[in-house]
Formats: sequence, structure tokens, C-alpha cells
Amino acid sequence: MNKPKKRRLLLPREEIAWFPELDTTLCNGCGDCEDLCKPGVFSLGEPEGVNRAKMTVANPYNCVVQCTRCEPICPSGAISLPLKKDFDQFVEYVD
Ligand code: SF4
Ligand code: SF4
Repeated sequence: MNKPKKRRLLLPREEIAWFPELDTTLCNGCGDCEDLCKPGVFSLGEPEGVNRAKMTVANPYNCVVQCTRCEPICPSGAISLPLKKDFDQFVEYVD
């Protein structure tokens, strides 16, 4: 079996604007994205009055550049990520 290639970022992580954006009008605070994302990008906010808490992007630069796992699992379609191909320029693969 081929060994997977190692990824290397070509700029410091903080200079690469890859992270999810949330439409808080759609988010129902279910927590599925927080459960799924191992790097801990999401964190549930505080409830406002009678309204349920909404998810927040608490640690955007923990997001793995070009990962898209959370986008399709959100039942509300509240998560969006940039176009993956636009970020090819920031990632190189080494043996
Ligand atoms: S999965 Fe979607 S609806 Fe659920 S908390 Fe995350 S953003 Fe909100
Ligand atoms: S794209 Fe991946 S790393 Fe980034 S927030 Fe979603 S699940 Fe976490």
C-alpha cells in the first residue's frame, strides 16, 4: 500500500483564510458540527433569552485547510466553506 503523502502549508496558518462560516439564522444549535470536528473549531455560544444557543466558529485557524467534512453534515445548511480548488496554491504534498 502507498504511504499517504504528507501535507505542508506554504504560508503560516493564520495567513490562509480557510475556515467555515456560519449562517446563524439557519443554525439550530444541534451541536453535530462540534461533535464531528476533532480540531475544535466550533463552540456552542450562550443562549439568548428564550432562543437556543447558536454555534460559533471559536477557533477558525484550527480548521484543517481544505477539509470539508462539516459542511454536508449540518442539517440546516448553515455551514459554508470556501472553494477547495482556490486553496490548492497554499498546500503542497511531500513524500
Ligand atoms: S451542525 Fe449546523 S445546525 Fe447543528 S450546530 Fe452546527 S451549524 Fe448549527
Ligand atoms: S472543515 Fe474540517 S476541520 Fe474545519 S471546521 Fe469543518 S470539520 Fe473542522
